[in-house]
Amino acid sequence: MDPGAATRISTEWSFEPSTKTSQVGHCTNCRQSVIVVKARIVGVAGNRYLLEGRCKRCGETVPFSV
Ligand SMILES: [Zn+2]
Repeated sequence: MDPGAATRISTEWSFEPSTKTSQVGHCTNCRQSVIVVKARIVGVAGNRYLLEGRCKRCGETVPFSV
């Protein structure tokens, strides 16, 4: 993943509720796929959206993309 693309955050961005499906990310603390809660947009990379949320198991920050 290109880290430079994440710095271009659009303030015009609005997160469509329709994309709010099951948000799953890989928690490095739990070392497994976990449910992510309180997800928020942190950037855009190409046609993917970078999000960041909290691991439902341990509360650790979990980055993921949709
Ligand atoms: Zn975790």
